[in-house]
Amino acid sequence: MTVKDTSSPMRALILGGTAEARELATLLVNKGWHITTSLAGRVKHPRLPAGEVRIGGFGGPSGLARWILDEKVDVIVDATHPFAERISTSAYEAARATHVPLLALHRPAWEEQPGDRWIHVSTMREAALKAQRFAHVFLTIGRQQLAPFADDTDNLYVIRSVERPSAPLPARHRIILDRGPFSLSSEKKTLIDNQIDVVVTKNSGGSTYPKLEAARSLNIPVIIVDRPPLPASWVVTSADEAVKALNHL
Ligand code: NAP
Repeated sequence: MTVKDTSSPMRALILGGTAEARELATLLVNKGWHITTSLAGRVKHPRLPAGEVRIGGFGGPSGLARWILDEKVDVIVDATHPFAERISTSAYEAARATHVPLLALHRPAWEEQPGDRWIHVSTMREAALKAQRFAHVFLTIGRQQLAPFADDTDNLYVIRSVERPSAPLPARHRIILDRGPFSLSSEKKTLIDNQIDVVVTKNSGGSTYPKLEAARSLNIPVIIVDRPPLPASWVVTSADEAVKALNHL
């Protein structure tokens, strides 16, 4: 068994790309930990966390496992988006292969409230089929998974994303480039101004909830893609909880 030299800082790899990952990086850097946050590299100008940052894929679970061993990582924190299935699976497999502990930090899912008109689906393709019944569709799903909507030539799609989406897109579309944050009043205005009659979103959880409150208050249905099951055994739902959990290492 290797005993950790207590004079050297704990080394964590945070798989990031979320606000929670940035929050955790700040908390751990302030505690004197050596933190590397890994980003996929999808966004041209990402919000950068405290500590070191590396960008780009690892080449699957074996590449990630190699990186973890080479960098002498003491703990992996999977703080990726709850829909980022491949990297979470990779983290799970790499942790098993290397015996390095893995903590999953996934914010809680949104829960349906009285007055909500949620239409649950489990894939984006299913969401696209349901969306075709509506004339003015608000797509708040990012820009990577727009292809299933591209075949609809009749209805108007208002697409909001941080960066300009690339083709294929539905024939009739309007693009809103905005990173947020979005308030309840600005979300209501967007829905009213664009005559939206359905919102499409993933159940990401977190700070973009005002779009769901706006839909509720305007009695607009929401097609909501439920979360995929992720392989993880040690799970927390906030950066503070993650720090408490990591203190037990
Ligand atoms: P994904 O499908 O799970 O990952 C695809 C591949 O991208 C992975 O196999 C991995 O490549 C690489 N990758 C993903 N996240 C990485 C990271 N943090 N560091 C290094 N490589 C990473 O992921 P995705 O859904 O495309 O999301 C990509 C990133 O965007 C994630 O980090 C996630 O936190 C963030 N994000 C995703 C969403 C969403 O809705 N999916 C929303 C907001 C932010 P290798 O196999 O080569 O290692």
